[in-house]
Amino acid sequence: MTRKPLPPLPTDPYECLCQGCERPWEVANEPFQVAKDTFYVGNNWVGAYLLASDDGLALIDTTMQPQVYLVLENIRKLGFDPADIRKILISHMHYDHIGGVRSLLEHSGAEVMMSREDWQFMNDRPDQIFNEGYPFGSFTPDGFFDDDVPVQLGSRRIRTVLSPGHTPGTTSFFFKTEGEDGEALLCGMHGGVGLNTLSDAALAGSGQPASIRQDFLNSMLKLREIPVDITLGSHPKQVEMMEKVDQIRPGHNPFHDRAIWTGLIDGRIAQIRKLLEEAA
Ligand SMILES: [Zn+2]
Repeated sequence: MTRKPLPPLPTDPYECLCQGCERPWEVANEPFQVAKDTFYVGNNWVGAYLLASDDGLALIDTTMQPQVYLVLENIRKLGFDPADIRKILISHMHYDHIGGVRSLLEHSGAEVMMSREDWQFMNDRPDQIFNEGYPFGSFTPDGFFDDDVPVQLGSRRIRTVLSPGHTPGTTSFFFKTEGEDGEALLCGMHGGVGLNTLSDAALAGSGQPASIRQDFLNSMLKLREIPVDITLGSHPKQVEMMEKVDQIRPGHNPFHDRAIWTGLIDGRIAQIRKLLEEAA
């Protein structure tokens, strides 16, 4: 996969423009490189990641349908062509992650993959997509994730790990990249760390069993052991990504820090343990 060189960066493109804004997902964000051949192309509020390979592009998550033009523009700004997207991988079935799928399919003819569990849930309970009146173009996945069979895109392999909790089929992604000295680094994205769907009221509304709280804890304990060098936030705020972008320098990748992953997971482990104790 070849791409045009990156244009020079504006002086301060990453300042959060949405202080107090009610719809921060409408705020454009300059794309940036998170790791080799791995780029942030989401908006200021919800993430989308572009992976370049020797056989086209993969996109993890799509943002929302009315904002998908921001993703398209970010892909183009990086010198890529959205038509080269071969695979769209979905972290979970909430609107802010799947809302853009249909529009992106119309630009690329990519293959869409998600978990079988979330496909089932969004069909059983479309109200739980939470599109809240925003347009939602339906789609049918071309395949389902299998934790034992990594997604292959050219020479890149993306391992998926079913991570139930936020939704029954939330999926996390892990893939190798390289540091500046050619050293192997592992990128990781947890597919959905929010406990907002695990409150008593939320479970009553979604019909999910209370046991999904324990599933969330078990999954987090397992994921914590994965030595993630570079953490990608499904929402950048989870790991303060936008606050780190202006620290990117040749020879210094501010996202390369194993403590970011364990810090994120430990924070959620503490929250779910508290919720389980309160419910006991
Ligand atoms: Zn969600």
